[in-house]
Amino acid sequence: MTATPPAEGRCAHCDQPRIVFPTKPEWGQVPSPMCTSDWQLFAEARDNNTFVDWNDAFLNGTDDQLAAGLGGAT
Ligand SMILES: [Zn+2]
Repeated sequence: MTATPPAEGRCAHCDQPRIVFPTKPEWGQVPSPMCTSDWQLFAEARDNNTFVDWNDAFLNGTDDQLAAGLGGAT
């Protein structure tokens, strides 16, 4: 089996000592590894074609997505 076992470490997103998991390459530029709750957050955001926060959007969003996000406030 090649699956990486869960490891204890520090979550790269919330900076807490947790059991952490490597993030998926298809998520783009994201902090890794992440704890389960943050991992879930990113998984759900990607499922819904959204981003977890502005930093995530800036790193991984397209220009159109950013424009839509900014334009949505008007
Ligand atoms: Zn976390």
